[in-house]
Amino acid sequence: MLFFLTSDKWALWERRIGYFTARCQSCHQETWQILFHMWRTKGSQISPPTPWSPIHGQAYQVRCNGCGVPAMVGHPQTWVPHQAPGFVHEHHHQTMPATPMYTTVAIPVMR
Ligand SMILES: [Zn+2]
Repeated sequence: MLFFLTSDKWALWERRIGYFTARCQSCHQETWQILFHMWRTKGSQISPPTPWSPIHGQAYQVRCNGCGVPAMVGHPQTWVPHQAPGFVHEHHHQTMPATPMYTTVAIPVMR
């Protein structure tokens, strides 16, 4: 029982942090591309993970507003300045539990 209470419990979170216009590599439309920060935290059964628990892996994902297909990207500081002119940084979106359909491609590249 004690083992169960202290066993690791993981959670995945996401937060929309910006958007820009670009041609999607999947649907080839020139449309909004939404940037999300995704991260994973660890807790336990008696102390469930929250978005503010220690981070064990994170990644950045762009989702096409036209077709919804996600693409994993590097840290925004490494590409936004020269590859996403007109990028709009957003700070008002709430942290949410990550959308399951988008975590599958994100988890393998989290570090
Ligand atoms: Zn698309």
